[in-house]
Amino acid sequence: MNPDLTILGGGLAGSEAAWQAAERGLRVRLYEMRPERSTGVHQTADLAELVCSGSLKSLLVTTASGLLNHELESLGSLILRCGRQAAIPGGQALAVDRREFAAAVTAAVEGHPRIQVVRQEALTVPREGLVIVASGPLTSAALAADLAALTGAGQMAFYDAIAPTVEYESIDLEPVYRASRYGRGGADYLNCPLTLEQYTAFHEALVSAERHAPKCPEDTVYFESCLPIEIIAERSFKGPTYGPLKPVGLDDPRTGRRPYAVVQLRQENRAATLWSLVGFQTQLKRGEQERIFRLIPGLERAVFARYGQVHRNTFLNSPQVLDPTLQLRAQPEVLLAGQLIGVEGYMESAAAGWLAGVNAARVQRGQEALVPPATTMLGALVRYVSDPWCKSFQPMNANFGLLPHLDVKPKDARKQAYADRALADLAAWSAASGALEL
Ligand SMILES: Cc1cc2nc3c(=O)[nH]c(=O)nc-3n(C[C@H](O)[C@H](O)[C@H](O)COP(=O)(O)OP(=O)(O)OC[C@H]3O[C@@H](n4cnc5c(N)ncnc54)[C@H](O)[C@@H]3O)c2cc1C
Repeated sequence: MNPDLTILGGGLAGSEAAWQAAERGLRVRLYEMRPERSTGVHQTADLAELVCSGSLKSLLVTTASGLLNHELESLGSLILRCGRQAAIPGGQALAVDRREFAAAVTAAVEGHPRIQVVRQEALTVPREGLVIVASGPLTSAALAADLAALTGAGQMAFYDAIAPTVEYESIDLEPVYRASRYGRGGADYLNCPLTLEQYTAFHEALVSAERHAPKCPEDTVYFESCLPIEIIAERSFKGPTYGPLKPVGLDDPRTGRRPYAVVQLRQENRAATLWSLVGFQTQLKRGEQERIFRLIPGLERAVFARYGQVHRNTFLNSPQVLDPTLQLRAQPEVLLAGQLIGVEGYMESAAAGWLAGVNAARVQRGQEALVPPATTMLGALVRYVSDPWCKSFQPMNANFGLLPHLDVKPKDARKQAYADRALADLAAWSAASGALEL
């Protein structure tokens, strides 16, 4: 096949981009280096493997990630469709069985008549023809070096952290209760309540535990909304009780009272045999994870199916090199998508993939590349990562702070107003621009 478009990386962004471009008639060649070469974190050969949490975040339109998911749904996203197919109980979140999800994406992409998947590491960015680079936070060293040379912007690394997963059978359910915060959604989470005394012992152990040493100093520049639990604990005694161990809305039904702190466990697979500790990204050594997380009521004999880990994240200084159409300013035939451009999160990456795929198709047809309205979460995100005003760039996930302010009170009504405006503007934009035309 003589491709119209080459895509590097078959993750969340690359798979979505390939699908959108192929649906619009382009012949796509998609390079994915697994299983020939691993990232060190992915465990399968599947496209769009979820490397950590099995949650595609909220479906509530009055949350920022929920709004992004609604936008993706109305844009015909492949990733969202496969997420729905593989859904398992997760309260208001779109929790998925990770194997089923990745298998569904893989089957769709590999089965598309205009997509050819090549299982090979791309060592360089092709300098001719239309290209989308979507090789993600764990881009192989050779490609990262070539990309840095191509953009001249360099790259930086920091740690992302994986939360540990425990086997259901090993959880002592006696002190644990099922609930979702404020009773919203189903009672899908397992909640481990801690008294002040238990929390104090846990906190002391956490801050004094042994950690993996960072490989180089810049690897400890954390993404603020994804901090390791021990870093949150180190910053203040109560810090974790305002974050992952927040007890608000999680009263213990047996006492009718709010515990001092609550650790939540989220179902990780359809069979409900694996549960992860919500928000427990960590840099602790494995033995320390066992010792300290077993101080949590209900987890005294927990068997760890997967330990928390820390990982490199590769992303570009996009504000200096990228247009909001996701084309490189200096090389408009090269588009970038996914975590590599500095969006943070599965669905943020997929959303960027959607736009890159659509714009690649438009460029190929000689049409103008598009940018969704600034009032939409997708439009706001791509504007954020490509705004040259930003001199000290850090990755960004979906949040209402990115949207043009609406002076509506109270806060809940404002979120609804943001959502209403975004979805109305997106529908009008899609119709006027022909973004959904195949
Ligand atoms: C350890 C870790 C945990 C994370 N946890 C979460 C989480 O829980 N929730 C969340 O929302 N986000 C999480 N993220 C952030 C991010 O959303 C995901 O990494 C997401 O998968 C990014 O999508 P992507 O398509 O940009 O990259 P990926 O999904 O990683 O896809 C990139 C693909 O490119 C391939 N590739 C790399 N180099 C080459 C090459 N040279 N040639 C060919 N193929 C190549 C890789 O094998 C991979 O399949 C995490 C990130 C990391 C690193």
